[in-house]
Formats: sequence, structure tokens, C-alpha cells
Amino acid sequence: MLAIQNLETYYGNIRALKGISLEVPEGKIVSLIGANGAGKTTLMKTVAGVLTPRSGSITLNGKQVQGMKPHQLVKEGLALVPEGRQVLAPMTVLENLELGAYQRNDRQCIQQDIEKMFAWFPILKERVDQLAGTMSGGQQQMLAIARALMSRPKLLLLDEPSMGLAPIIVSDIFKVIRQINQEGTTVLIVEQNVRQVLKIADYGYVLESGQIVLSGEAQDLLHNDRVKDAYLGGK
Ligand code: ATP
Repeated sequence: MLAIQNLETYYGNIRALKGISLEVPEGKIVSLIGANGAGKTTLMKTVAGVLTPRSGSITLNGKQVQGMKPHQLVKEGLALVPEGRQVLAPMTVLENLELGAYQRNDRQCIQQDIEKMFAWFPILKERVDQLAGTMSGGQQQMLAIARALMSRPKLLLLDEPSMGLAPIIVSDIFKVIRQINQEGTTVLIVEQNVRQVLKIADYGYVLESGQIVLSGEAQDLLHNDRVKDAYLGGK
């Protein structure tokens, strides 16, 4: 589904990604873990076309997509849920969902997909006319994910979906991510909540200072000493 090779992204003279290579196979959940400043968000933004890489390749469904703009990548089947729950605060839940489908013109199916979002996230149905900015952090995160899904992505990129949320909401969000994946969407997810994400992921990559230092089956990473010491509090 997604293959990245030798990707390098700079901020001015700062080399934030130093030759990243990774793969996200179709139907899987792949998790990206690493400390603050490791380059996780930079990688997600580069894949989503928000940042342009200086070198390397990004292949999505067999097509080279590096250098494409975000809206072109949405057409190619990719959707990013950025860090920090970026919903459109002055718009209602329904308007946010409709906006997620702005590149589609299949009215009937859009309506069906809105109903599907309501089934996945019942709270959004209850709050359908509420302004997004007045909802709780967890509700906004659910709306941000639902809005991204409204473009019917084949590959969903999630940048720290659990950030700043209460543990009970975090487990709800992880459950829904698993469900979304089981219904056919491939997922690449960045998370600080390493233990929980490795429990739902198939595969994981560890990023340090702009480089992949370790990768493997999620189950193996959960028991890896280096991962335990650095990201699981030594347990
Ligand atoms: P976090 O979990 O804190 O978001 P991260 O792993 O996502 O961390 P990035 O935000 O991708 O890390 O940052 C990678 C490196 O690039 C860091 O050294 C950071 O200081 C630097 N960086 C990020 N954004 C910019 C920017 N706009 N200008 C210059 N340097 C930046």
C-alpha cells in the first residue's frame, strides 16, 4: 500500500528525516514510535504532502507520489488526521463531516457514509448540530477521525490520536481504530501511548533522531528490551 525509501526532509538546513525507509502493507496497522522531536510528525506530513521531501521516494498503491500536494493525495486514497484534533471549530459536526467529503460528488453515498460515522461514533450523532469547537477533546478527536474517513481513504494516517485524552477515551479511540482497520482501511499511526498502540498494531517502527533504529512485529517490539527501557518504563 505504502512504501517509503530513503526519505529525507529538511527544515532549512536541518535534516529532520535522515533516509527513512518503511513499508505499510495493505490491510495492516503499522505504528511509528519515538521520543519527542524524533521526526514522527515530519514523516507524517511528508507522506501527506504537507512537506516536500528533498530526496527519496514515496510509493502509494504502486504510484510514485512524493511531491504531490495534499488534495491530490486525498484523491489517491490517503487521509491525514493531524496532531492536535484539527476540527473546524466554528462549524457544526455535520458540516465538518460534509467537508471531509468535499472532493466527492456521490451525494447518496456521502449520506450513507455519514450514517456509518454515526454508527462508529454515536456521540457525533447526538451532537450533530453542535459547533465542533464546543465539544470535549475526545469528541473533537472522534470528529477529526470521522472527517478524514469521509474521503474514503485506503490509507489513514493518524498523528497521536490519543494525545491529551483521558484513559477511558483513549481506549475507545483505539477500539474504533481497530474496527476501521478491520473494515478494510490500512492505518499508519504515530503514538506516544506505546503499549496500547503495539497491542492493536501488526508492525512497528522506532524512530530516533530522524532515523529508523528498530522495526518488527508489534508483539515482538512489546517484549523488546530496548523498547521496554525507552518507551514502556522498563516493564
Ligand atoms: P513530537 O512528538 O514532539 O511532535 P516528532 O517526533 O513528531 O515529535 P517532529 O515534530 O517531526 O518530531 O520534529 C523533528 C525535528 O524537526 C525536531 O528536531 C524539531 O525540532 C524539528 N522541527 C520540527 N518542525 C520544525 C520547523 N517548523 N522548523 C524547524 N525545525 C522543525
